[in-house]
Amino acid sequence: MPPSQRLPEALLDALVAQRGRSDRLTHTEHLPARPARHAPWPESIRTEIRTGAAELGVAEPWAHQTETMNLAKSGQTVVIATGTASGKSLGYLAPVLSDLLDGTEAPNGRGATALYLAPTKALAADQRRRAAELAPPRVRAALYDGDTPPQEREWVRQYASYVLTNPDMLHRSILPAHARWSSFLKTLRYVVVDECHGYRGVFGSHVAQVLRRLRRLCHRYGSDPAFLLASATTADPAATAERLTGLPAVAVTEDASPRGPLVFALWEPPLTEHVGEHGAPVRRTATTEAAYLLTDLVAAGTRTVAFVRSRRAAELVALQAQDNLDAPLANRIAAYRGGYLPEERRALERDLHSGRLLGLASTSALELGVDVSGLDAVLLAGYPGTRASLWQQAGRAGREAQGALAVLIARDDPLDTYLVHHPEALFAHPVEATVLDPDNPHVLAPHLCAAAAELPLGPSDLELFGPSAAPLLPVLEQRGLLRRRADGSWYWTRRERAADAVDLRGSGGNPVQIVEATTGRLLGTVDAAAAHTTVHTGAVHLHQGRTYLVGELDLETSVALVEPANPSYTTAARDTTAISVLGTERSVAWGEGSLNFGSVEVVNQVVGFLRKRISTGEILGESKLDLPPRTLRTRAVWWTVTEQQLLDALIPFDQLPGAAHAAEHASIGLLPLFATCDRWDIGGVSVPLHPDTQLPTVFVYDGHPGGAGFAEHGFRRAVQWLTATRDAIAACECDRGCPSCVQSPKCGNGNDPLDKAGAVRLLTTLLAGAPESAEDGVEEGAGDPDPGGRAGRK
Ligand SMILES: [Zn+2]
Ligand SMILES: [Zn+2]
Repeated sequence: MPPSQRLPEALLDALVAQRGRSDRLTHTEHLPARPARHAPWPESIRTEIRTGAAELGVAEPWAHQTETMNLAKSGQTVVIATGTASGKSLGYLAPVLSDLLDGTEAPNGRGATALYLAPTKALAADQRRRAAELAPPRVRAALYDGDTPPQEREWVRQYASYVLTNPDMLHRSILPAHARWSSFLKTLRYVVVDECHGYRGVFGSHVAQVLRRLRRLCHRYGSDPAFLLASATTADPAATAERLTGLPAVAVTEDASPRGPLVFALWEPPLTEHVGEHGAPVRRTATTEAAYLLTDLVAAGTRTVAFVRSRRAAELVALQAQDNLDAPLANRIAAYRGGYLPEERRALERDLHSGRLLGLASTSALELGVDVSGLDAVLLAGYPGTRASLWQQAGRAGREAQGALAVLIARDDPLDTYLVHHPEALFAHPVEATVLDPDNPHVLAPHLCAAAAELPLGPSDLELFGPSAAPLLPVLEQRGLLRRRADGSWYWTRRERAADAVDLRGSGGNPVQIVEATTGRLLGTVDAAAAHTTVHTGAVHLHQGRTYLVGELDLETSVALVEPANPSYTTAARDTTAISVLGTERSVAWGEGSLNFGSVEVVNQVVGFLRKRISTGEILGESKLDLPPRTLRTRAVWWTVTEQQLLDALIPFDQLPGAAHAAEHASIGLLPLFATCDRWDIGGVSVPLHPDTQLPTVFVYDGHPGGAGFAEHGFRRAVQWLTATRDAIAACECDRGCPSCVQSPKCGNGNDPLDKAGAVRLLTTLLAGAPESAEDGVEEGAGDPDPGGRAGRK
């Protein structure tokens, strides 16, 4: 039997059969093959488009594509949320191009227009090609981004019927100059929002307001475009689409595209002999384990890609696997680090497809620009952060007819540990939602200014911008930004462009520029909020997969000077944090305890950093830093317990700080399972006796001014979130706490004190008083899947 036809089960058995590995496999999920379900083309789609699709090999669409087409043609706002490679783009492109084709028959050749938004330029370019393949050339599709030369821009405005751009260009360039776009906007039939799960947190909240500005201008020009959104599979895509657009949305979620059988294994690396912080047991790293598994798979002739976090890890995995093998096989393993020239990428694709190359270790940069579909096996060294990325990476394995193997190798952290022991969190219905909060006044204020600059804001506009808008306007007037005229409308008063005041991808404050000291090259930026902890003087900083050492952080100029480096240690900032409650918006009794949501002020000061050896976590030294405190006004979820509850749970007062701190760490680690955020988006504080609550209190807060919706989401899903947190800690096989449960690599207190057993008892006590409902036990709007869906106010 040729190796490519070996069943994935046999591959997995062979991996497990190696000595001592049997207990590393925590779960095997068999995802059966799914046959294609087709549905006829809607009558309303023009034959030219159907012919174009047929030439690309699509004789009849899949059922979810047809459903999307029908909904789009009826003028509905629709979000298509199906798997990777399920042809989402044909679903929205067919109705869009069909209408644009109708429009070419208008006297001016442009009776209908459509706008396409993608988070990246590369994706927009890819989509333009696709449109050109499907529709005849009289449908004029054109890119409009920062690279479009001025003379071409004029042509795009006047003649293009399908304009492909990104939210930043829409915000900075198109909306402020809407008068020059008036003929385009007048006939705007559709707005396509691709990869909309990427619009989350503060960035997503900004994009939501940009879309409301677009809708307002369209209304003035007499058009009412339907929004067509494409999303990865997430919990409740319709609610996300509604928050993003402010319009009621229908979700298409039933994937009718075919899939080969997939065996998905969950894998936990073994404990090593090393000890880490405070004597904690340390697991073998996911990258080292990936190198071993890659070795065995390649030795068995299996075409495999191992996805890792950094370029350095990609090189390490490839090198280790090469070392483990002899000459001819060793040469068939490579590392992909991104930044390749197009011809190098094509060569890599050819070698993988032909089988000359058997093993590839790669950063997820590979998701952009290299086609490695149709592999026999995919290794994922660590949970990639969202289910969307997980399936995107695992989806690289398998051809239609043939089975494939995917292995998720857990990293040594609470979320990964939880997932490999709770497969239902990955394979049952998605639990993580795309979270954004367009009503955050910090986000909304600059968009109200930009909108007023575009056209004076009338009272009838306020509803569109949500409930925060009306109270903000007088504040903006006080600041001298807006002025109210006698007719009741608000005007922008300044000479400068209002749209320039906001960077959609920033989160307040000057971002710190990362500059290579020797060359002066700008490598990128980090948010001001994260700079003190991530690029302080002496920090080891990972940027786009490369490792740098920070020579100096200059706060005056907001520049971090760095050098490429390969130190044998990582750094962890130490900080002090104080938190005070500014206002409690919602509070629910959980038995004697309580669960709360509201605004807080967080004062954080980075005071030093630790150097830790990479291989073992051993502490090599500590240095002091002299950085000013930073104040953040944001929103938080917090819970309290009473003294009686502590007594009942047998937690003496001297054990409380460690118990609360451990519970805080693990809960921060688990929140990304429910809301698409990462650790930098949220922070936490635990206090044995908080001055505002007068009780033991644990806070988890949004790391951005005004909040980004993560804490609110935690509040709404608190029963499930804290239950998962408790389970993750309780299930960990360590004695006294380790990185898999309660230790955090980002702890500002050097993971001291932590009390694992106390944390389990504390959370158990708290949860005993929690409401019963599994879905949502804390909110007034029972039965509504998104009771806090504030963008849903129409
Ligand atoms: Zn542990
Ligand atoms: Zn901590």
